Amino acid sequence: MRTAARLKRIPPYLFAELDRKQQEAAQRGIDLINLGVGDPDQPTPEAVIDVLCTEARKPENHRYPSYVGHTALRTAAAQWMQQRFGVEVDPDTEVIALIGSKEGIAHTCWAFVDSGDYTLVPDPAYPVYANQTLLAGGTPYPMPLRPENGFLPDLEAIPQAVLEQTTVMFLNYPNNPTAAVAELEFFERAVALARRYNFLLCHDAAYIDLTFDGYRASSILEIPGAKEVALEFHSLSKPFNMTGWRIGFAVGNAQAVGALGKIKTNTDSGQFTAIQFAAVEALLRTPTAFREKMASLYRARRDAAVAGLRSLGFEVEPPRGTFYLWVPVPQGWNSLDFAEHLLTTAGVVVSPGAAFGQQGEGFFRLALTTGEERIREAVRRIGRALEVGR
Ligand SMILES: *Cc1c(COP(=O)(O)O)cnc(C)c1O
Repeated sequence: MRTAARLKRIPPYLFAELDRKQQEAAQRGIDLINLGVGDPDQPTPEAVIDVLCTEARKPENHRYPSYVGHTALRTAAAQWMQQRFGVEVDPDTEVIALIGSKEGIAHTCWAFVDSGDYTLVPDPAYPVYANQTLLAGGTPYPMPLRPENGFLPDLEAIPQAVLEQTTVMFLNYPNNPTAAVAELEFFERAVALARRYNFLLCHDAAYIDLTFDGYRASSILEIPGAKEVALEFHSLSKPFNMTGWRIGFAVGNAQAVGALGKIKTNTDSGQFTAIQFAAVEALLRTPTAFREKMASLYRARRDAAVAGLRSLGFEVEPPRGTFYLWVPVPQGWNSLDFAEHLLTTAGVVVSPGAAFGQQGEGFFRLALTTGEERIREAVRRIGRALEVGR
C-alpha cells in the first residue's frame, strides 16, 4: 500500500514523545492538570440543547441537509453580523455554513491554493493554515508574530515576489496562541494589501466573542471594501462551549463563498439540520447573562493564573481576549523541554510554543479551560517544578 505523496508534505510531528509521556502518566493514575488543549470545560447552554432535541425528532431534519447550510442558519448568521458588527451580508451569496470553522479553513485552501502558490501564515499559529496549504500543494510563507509588534505580522516585511504569488493570507484575532488582539487600523492595512495584490484575506474569528475588560473585538468586514477580498470564519465552538457539535460559518466575499461551496458540495453534505437550528438559537437568543458568566469565569481564571505566574517571576500580561496565556519559558529552557519538565515533575500539561511554529519557540501556552482552583494548584506545582530544576 502506498500513501499519497501529499501526506509526506506535512512536517513530522515533533511532539509525539510528549503526548506519549502524558498518556503514560494518565494511565499510571497521576493527577494531571491539563492546560494543554483549548477545549471549553463548561456545558453548552440548556436552551441550545433543547432546540437540538426538538429538531432531532422532526423527520424533515433526518434527510440530507443543504450543502451550503439551511436558510435559517445563513439568515441568522447575517442578522448576527449586522447586530454585532453593523456588517451587511447577503445570506444567500455571502454566507456559508461550516462543519466547524476548521473544515472551512481547510477547504478554502483546496479552493484557492495551487502548486507554486504561497499562503501567508502567521508564525506561531493554529497549525491548520500551514498544513492544509501543504496538502493543497502550496507553500506557507511564515509571517513572524513578535512580542515587540504586539504579535501582529509586519506586513511591510513580506517580499514583493512572495506577495505576487500569494493567493491567501491568514489572520486570527483575538489570536491563538498568543492571545493578542488587533485594532481596526491593522485590519485596514491588511485589506489594502490584499486588494493591491488581489489575494483572499481569511480572518479566523474563532475567539471574536471571548474578550474581557470591556474590549470588543472587530470583524475584518467592518473595513470599507473588505468584502472585495475578505472571508471571515466564525465558530460556535469557543463562545458557546460547542466544540463537539461541529458548527460554524464563513461570511464575506461572494466569489470565495461560492468557491468554498463548490469544494464542499463535492466533499461533505453539510451538518445535521437539527444542529444548524441549535446554532441559530445560540447566535440569536443566547441571553447576555450567559456571555457575561463565561467572560467573568475566564477573567477570574486569567487573573488567578497571571498573578500566580508573576509571583513566580514569569513576565505575562493579562490578555484582552481568548482563554490562553502565552508565557515566555524561563531562561535556559526550550519550550519542549520545559513542557516535558512540567509534565513529569508537576503533572501539569501545557503546550510548547514550538508546536505552533518556529517563532513559538521560547514560549509556552496555557489554556484556561479548567477550574480556577485547579489553575491555582497548577501554578503552585509549576513553582515547585522551577525549584527542582532540570
Ligand atoms: C478552536 C479553533 C478553531 C476551530 O474551531 P472549530 O469551529 O471547532 O473547527 C479555529 N481556529 C482557531 C484559531 C481555533 O483556536
